Amino acid sequence: MPRDPLPLLHSTFGFPGFRGVQESVVTRVLAGDNTLAVMPTGAGKSLCYQLPSVVLEGTCVVVSPLIALMHDQLRAATAVGIRAATLTSVDTDQMETIARFRRGELDLLYVAPERASNMAFRELLTQAPLALFAIDEAHCVSEWGHDFRPDYRLLRPLLDHFPHVPRLALTATADKVTRDDILDQLGIPREGMIVAGFDRPNIRYTISPKDNTTRQIADLIAETPGAGIVYCQSRAGTEKMAEALARSGRPTRAYHAGLDPQVRARNQADFVASEDMVICATVAFGMGIDKPDVRFVAHAGMPKSIESYYQETGRAGRDGDPAVAHLFWGAEDFAKARQRMSEVEPARQAGERVRLQALGALVETPGCRRKILLRHFGDDAPDYCGNCDNCLNPPGAVDATEVAKKVLSA
Ligand code: ADP
Ligand code: MG
Repeated sequence: MPRDPLPLLHSTFGFPGFRGVQESVVTRVLAGDNTLAVMPTGAGKSLCYQLPSVVLEGTCVVVSPLIALMHDQLRAATAVGIRAATLTSVDTDQMETIARFRRGELDLLYVAPERASNMAFRELLTQAPLALFAIDEAHCVSEWGHDFRPDYRLLRPLLDHFPHVPRLALTATADKVTRDDILDQLGIPREGMIVAGFDRPNIRYTISPKDNTTRQIADLIAETPGAGIVYCQSRAGTEKMAEALARSGRPTRAYHAGLDPQVRARNQADFVASEDMVICATVAFGMGIDKPDVRFVAHAGMPKSIESYYQETGRAGRDGDPAVAHLFWGAEDFAKARQRMSEVEPARQAGERVRLQALGALVETPGCRRKILLRHFGDDAPDYCGNCDNCLNPPGAVDATEVAKKVLSA
């Protein structure tokens, strides 16, 4: 009989209770049912496999797309006393990890998706009891998702090789097409899907045409206290932006994959520790970063998709306090995106076109931004949220005032 999860939730994780759909997900997992959990960033997906990994006999194998992410998770899990290890090419303790696994001493074993096709790894997994396969960032398995990783396609044969080990797929960002595809690709039944609400009511969404982006963002920062992220379109752009914004007197840092790893790590650590720093970053920044008090996320140009936009803006206000998401876009962003689209293989162009149209609808709507976002993810949403630019300041009403002024002054 597995142990009761609730006391462990308190004693091991120190949480007063489950949050949102966590309880339903964990219940399914403990019952051995294959599950897809669709939960927004910050909703607490990790707990959905970490808790079962402690409750159930055997090891939970966690598939994760980024080594840096795995090591963050490993630190967090080890810190609360979970017996965890990563098995990646950069780990020097691979032999020890394998031995611990064989002795049944691991609750969690983090691996990259490419391991899945490694026959020695598959053989290793037969040598000790398995509790669960957890597939994190599961949208990577779908070409419809915004971050397709071919290696994720190697997972299915491995999962099918262990038909009695339950599967839990987790993702923050999946529209309906992507969700259905994840279910098919990973062999999870339709009724195994649990979708959490996507609304982040404390985030105020604002979208404006670009004019002078650096000045616009400097203005935004001047009126928005607290730590914030500015997503820039290029590596060089992050450094230029950081330099320009530093003139306002706020501490700033740049962050992109081309920086020296030590500088990058220090900039990230500085940001996490700061209460008013502005980090100017490429989209390489953010995954796995646990900073609940980010007060604003600005985009100095169009994100890649609505999914990316939701994920990136979702890093604001995880503590539940008011936060701002401000996107600046220009027609040239769409031109560039169309150009990129023409360069991808024809089979994927239709998907790219749909993604671009969805973004177009979001930035150009005179109506509620939140409604467009939430309905994109299949959530119900009223026509008016009261906390986006268009609801607070309806474009039509502005025009009417202008008209009224002209009429009055005539
Ligand atoms: P996700 O992977 O969905 O983005 P994480 O698993 O990284 O989210 O969790 C986000 C934050 O929420 C973490 O700081 C975690 O400790 C916290 N958290 C998770 N579950 C709970 C809970 N039941 N109660 C309180 N905090 C929680
Ligand atoms: Mg996560």
